[in-house]
Amino acid sequence: MKSRLPNVGTTIFTVMSALATERGAVNLGQGFPDFDPDPLLLDAVNGAMRAGYNQYAPLNGWPALRQAVSDKVHALYGRRYDPNTEVMITAGATQAIMTAVFALVHPGDEVIVIEPVYDSYIPSIELAGARAVPVPMTNQYRVDWNRVAAAVTPKTRAIMVNSPHNPSGMILRDADMLALQDIVLKHGLLVISDEVYEHMVFDGEPHQSASKYPGLADRSIVVSSFGKTFHVTGWKVGSVVAPKEIMAEFRKVHQFNVFVTNSVMQAGLASYMQDPQRYLQLPTFYQRKRDFFRAGLARTPFKLYPCEGTFFQLVDYSAVSDKTELEFSKWLTTEIGVAAIPLSAFYQTAVENKTVRFCFAKKEETLTRALERLSRLAA
Ligand code: PMP
Ligand code: GLN
Repeated sequence: MKSRLPNVGTTIFTVMSALATERGAVNLGQGFPDFDPDPLLLDAVNGAMRAGYNQYAPLNGWPALRQAVSDKVHALYGRRYDPNTEVMITAGATQAIMTAVFALVHPGDEVIVIEPVYDSYIPSIELAGARAVPVPMTNQYRVDWNRVAAAVTPKTRAIMVNSPHNPSGMILRDADMLALQDIVLKHGLLVISDEVYEHMVFDGEPHQSASKYPGLADRSIVVSSFGKTFHVTGWKVGSVVAPKEIMAEFRKVHQFNVFVTNSVMQAGLASYMQDPQRYLQLPTFYQRKRDFFRAGLARTPFKLYPCEGTFFQLVDYSAVSDKTELEFSKWLTTEIGVAAIPLSAFYQTAVENKTVRFCFAKKEETLTRALERLSRLAA
């Protein structure tokens, strides 16, 4: 069979979760919480189901949820997106990203991505018949905007950015956004800004959304995920905001990609979002977990990278092993009983940094169990 994606296998997240289950390992690999969402959210969805939200939702999503998204973005980032023409509800961020790429990118175009890069971006670009141009981050996992600028060619159509960044935990700051805005305006590029971890930014730092910067917002599709924000990754509901002309193109692809997204979940989320505290409390909630996990890891031979946002922690294991990242992740899962994700999975070309990613979106008891096992590692 002639494959459209000859270099793609099963995603590393699926592979490592399956291995963790098979070996009874503590799963700090794939990024998902192991705790339940707020019972009030479950009640809201149950209520929506009983109230009859069981047929197709409108194409763009239920108006109440679009209004809630528009109000949130306005309150936090200052830009008002018209809930009727500039907000859409999607089947999670993965669908939103692929739909955005299909809507904006033409065959033969180039799209700049920042490496390490979330695994769905490059396949989405390639399926659209375009070419991904990876630009490596620095050793400390910051974006080198000079390198990004140097990667722009006459064929460049768009740049994909992700902040807070999976897997590195880096956040883009004001100076980064201004540098991105300069490049985008100078060359007339579009931006797909993946902000699924927007409510997980620590140490009092603000989240710098592309929607906050007028020059960027005019040319960006901003992607969010309710799964991350409300601890319901399995529900697969997300949202996008973009200026009207861009959203009109997104909508054309969306209607033949998923048509509409899950009605009941949308209706439940719309009523639950009426209280902004439900997402505003997230930085404190996850910062506590980050600090607890990092304090435990400090007693292992791992070297820790900074974690400014997301629910991921990168560690350098070079004091422990010479194995490749994939071998080490498998060994850690099977022999030590803790699953991790190799950083190499986030590169198009094989790059080895002796670094793996742990997810700390877990109950304290789960993190404690993982840390007990990791404390057996000897340098
Ligand atoms: N982008 C990033 C950076 C992610 O980490 C994830 C994963 N969870 C997604 C997109 C996809 O999110 P969703 O589950 O809403 O499709
Ligand atoms: N985004 C999650 C992660 O980085 C996993 C989602 C998936 O399995 N595709 O771990």
